[in-house]
Amino acid sequence: MSDLSFPTDTNQQMSPNTQLGYSALSYQGDFVSAASSRGRLVLEAKNLTKVYKLGFPSKDYISAVRNANIALYEKSVVALVGESGSGKSTIASLLAGQIPKTSGEIVLNGNSVNVKSNRKFRAYKSEVQMVFQDPFASLNSIHKVRHHLKRPISIHQPHLKKSAVEKEIYSLLHQVRLLPADQFIDKFPYELSGGQRQRVAIARSLAARPKVLLADEPVSMLDVSIRLEVLSLIDDLRDRFNLAVLYVTHDIASARYFADETVVIYGGDIVERGPSEDVTQNPAHPYTQLLVSAAPNPDDLGGSIRNAKLTAGTTKPRQTESALTSGIGCRFTPRCPFADRKCEEQFPPLVTISENRQVACWHIEQSLPNVSFKKISPKSQSTAEITLQGAHSAFGSEHTGSNHISHNVSDQFDTDGHSKTSQPAVPERDSEDGTVA
Ligand code: ATP
Ligand code: MG
Repeated sequence: MSDLSFPTDTNQQMSPNTQLGYSALSYQGDFVSAASSRGRLVLEAKNLTKVYKLGFPSKDYISAVRNANIALYEKSVVALVGESGSGKSTIASLLAGQIPKTSGEIVLNGNSVNVKSNRKFRAYKSEVQMVFQDPFASLNSIHKVRHHLKRPISIHQPHLKKSAVEKEIYSLLHQVRLLPADQFIDKFPYELSGGQRQRVAIARSLAARPKVLLADEPVSMLDVSIRLEVLSLIDDLRDRFNLAVLYVTHDIASARYFADETVVIYGGDIVERGPSEDVTQNPAHPYTQLLVSAAPNPDDLGGSIRNAKLTAGTTKPRQTESALTSGIGCRFTPRCPFADRKCEEQFPPLVTISENRQVACWHIEQSLPNVSFKKISPKSQSTAEITLQGAHSAFGSEHTGSNHISHNVSDQFDTDGHSKTSQPAVPERDSEDGTVA
């Protein structure tokens, strides 16, 4: 089952006469990222691919990311959204230079990146920093906050004298709103809450004065009550430091709130991208429709749970095999209500359907008019149901008459299937205290 075959060019411009199947929706101009209006292009992934070889005795390969193109612009946020095992952290780790790419190119400030030597890696890290999901694991419990901030300052600003370093530590604590700074500087990580630790981790990443912040699910392990605060902090820092931010998340509703552009990934392939508002309010790919319709409705959690129970068993079965070993065709095929033989046999290229929007689906014309989905309200992340032109949802339920399969994300997604086979992307270049300084 070895798979080293990658789809070729995933960013095709379509002509109206094309035989590919979505000619009516194709757009003749160039694709322009919705984030590009914010500022200059800082970091770009071009056809980035990562193949993992499974351990002995297996001879199989997992292509975790295939031909991913992502562009990060200063003062903008791009959200990378997908379920567990879809390749989000792999893309973030590749962009952070923590794991080697199999093929493709990473371009920083217009220059192709090669971080093979430690010196080049350090220079790259001064521009590109990462914030990890787990604020408990990312700080070394034997060191105080002061040490966590002092170390990257000494590395990236070696010319600073002792007093200037101390001043910089206070300034960083101030930037991440850990105030008064005196109360935090000599604390150990175990004396801080999860949100406070994540703020220290963010401050540590800012110590390098980066241009790019790669935030890998930065709030998913925090209490719901403080998630929005930490997201708002990152949003604020983006403005103040002109940061280009990649925001990795499972939560498509938060992508709408937070990101200029939303990129949806399934099984290592980017299946849709566009302005966050459009992607979340008018999802085109059947997988994005599934993500949006499965976003829980915080105003009616009881109803969501009842619907989830009623609709259980009426949906397409989850994938039993890892989609990541499939080399041909669309990897969403086993779960897609529109799938046919063509989907199994031919990889759908990512096609530009409007200036800022790309979709990879052979049946986009079929999926779009039939879709019914919920509208995700801005900021509050609450949801309100709307129905588009069509009469039934791609994932509709006979039992409830509802057009949604379930509001329970954990019920919908293939977390079982993936978690059994998946392993976290292990950083190959941690520094001694687990930082990425
Ligand atoms: P999650 O939301 O659970 O964090 P993810 O979208 O971040 O998932 P990745 O961690 O990028 O997913 O993993 C993508 C795929 O690559 C998974 O199937 C995973 O098992 C596989 N993978 C990741 N790291 C390795 C590794 N070091 N060796 C082999 N396979 C790996
Ligand atoms: Mg991950």
